[in-house]
Amino acid sequence: MAPRKNITRGLRFTLTAVYTVVFTLLLIGVSLLFRQTLASNLTQAARDDLDQNWAIVKAYLRIDSDKGENNFHPVWYYDRNDPDESSIVAGVRSVIFIADPDGHTMEASANYNGLGLDKQSVIKRVLASPQAQLFEKHDSKGTPYLVRASYINAENSNRKYYVAIGISRADSQKLLNQFTLLIFGLVPLVVITGGVMGWIFAGRALTPVVEVARAAQRISGSNLSLRIPMRGAGDELDRLIETFNQMIDRLEISFNQARQFSTDVSHELRTPITVVRGQLEVALFTAETVEQYRDAIVTSLSDIERLSQIVRALLLLSQAETGQVVLQKQTLDLIEVVDNVVDQFQIPAEGSDVTLSFISNVARCSGEFDRVQIDRMLSNLLSNAIKFTPAGGGVKVTLDRSGDTAEIRVADTGEGIAAEHLPHIFDRFYRVRGPGEQASPEKGLGLGLSFVSWIVRAHGGSVEVESEAGKGTTFIVRLPLSSDVPALIEAPAELMKPV
Ligand code: ADP
Repeated sequence: MAPRKNITRGLRFTLTAVYTVVFTLLLIGVSLLFRQTLASNLTQAARDDLDQNWAIVKAYLRIDSDKGENNFHPVWYYDRNDPDESSIVAGVRSVIFIADPDGHTMEASANYNGLGLDKQSVIKRVLASPQAQLFEKHDSKGTPYLVRASYINAENSNRKYYVAIGISRADSQKLLNQFTLLIFGLVPLVVITGGVMGWIFAGRALTPVVEVARAAQRISGSNLSLRIPMRGAGDELDRLIETFNQMIDRLEISFNQARQFSTDVSHELRTPITVVRGQLEVALFTAETVEQYRDAIVTSLSDIERLSQIVRALLLLSQAETGQVVLQKQTLDLIEVVDNVVDQFQIPAEGSDVTLSFISNVARCSGEFDRVQIDRMLSNLLSNAIKFTPAGGGVKVTLDRSGDTAEIRVADTGEGIAAEHLPHIFDRFYRVRGPGEQASPEKGLGLGLSFVSWIVRAHGGSVEVESEAGKGTTFIVRLPLSSDVPALIEAPAELMKPV
């Protein structure tokens, strides 16, 4: 079993942690905002109350003097028999401080005394200001009071008298404290609950991922046919599973190709080795003269040469399979390239009594190509065409262009390829054999067309074949002239035949 991973490194932990932190911050933020709003609402309510109380002061309080005298003093005018009025005025007077312009106390409630009477400097400032002043004071127990300080004019006089009234904010303070306590009590609780829920939900959300990982673990080189079942939710995870399965598809194809390749290789090498061994054994036991020994050695040598040709080809093939082949592209005119290769094949064609011709139906056909690979591709097609065309026949190469695509046709009047073989001729080691005919290296390695197919695809083109047994075969290669095909392309398990 795999060692248990550190829990804090897991996606589930990270998700839960991030969620909890964000949730906590959000909760604290919202709570603080709420508290702030509550505090300012309470302050506003206190101000409104003070304004109302001020209106009461203005309605019931006069700064009067005895007739003709200049000794002003506050007088509260209200019906003392009216309990409502009495209680209203008493309420206002419970926190009040009235002073003359010099700061001498004229009336001070016990509550206001507890707050500390305002200093003369404050009184002076308030009397000089047309606006009422609001400030906060605390009594000896720390209870906050909101105070509204202003003045009223004495009756029939310009003299201003300082009047400050206050209201206790103990209730507001208590409410805010309770709210704060509630928040700080609730936040840890909510955070813990949120964290646990987050952990559970993250676990649930990640269950399919864990399942996918388990399924992926079961897939190995020996059981590549396994696929992860789709969940049918059509979500991101299903898309991931689909992509993953597609990747396994491709891997399976590559694995099968590699397996097939090693089977093909061992099969291809076994036959010639057996032949050489047989020849040498026969010579060892039956040859008597030097001539006979020499013959056996010469035959074996040519077979061994053929064998090393196969090995060289296979080596190249494995290099192409494991690595990447870089196309060395340059701007080339296909007319010149094709003409050149056709020229090289004139002598072998004459040797086989086959007429070889090239016709270009376009004046220019330039594009980006790897010259060596295009030469090899054409060589493979031409050598096949000449090889499979009997004496007296002909091989015709034509070059056409339609839009941005060049079309090279290599048509012969040879033996043709039977329909049942056509789908396989581009496969590695595939050779068409006549009835009773044994595989023989002289007939070719069966790798040429695989390589043709790879070169064409590496250039972003396509190749197809038309053939009729007994009449002839035409290979049609289409190459893009202005392609953006990447120069780097993974080579499949195909290779050119040695020409
Ligand atoms: P080989 O080395 O055997 O030619 P290729 O991959 O080039 O291998 O070709 C595969 C098979 O396709 C050949 O063995 C041959 O039977 C058939 N073939 C290829 N080109 C032609 C052609 N022009 N005419 C008839 N048969 C052909």
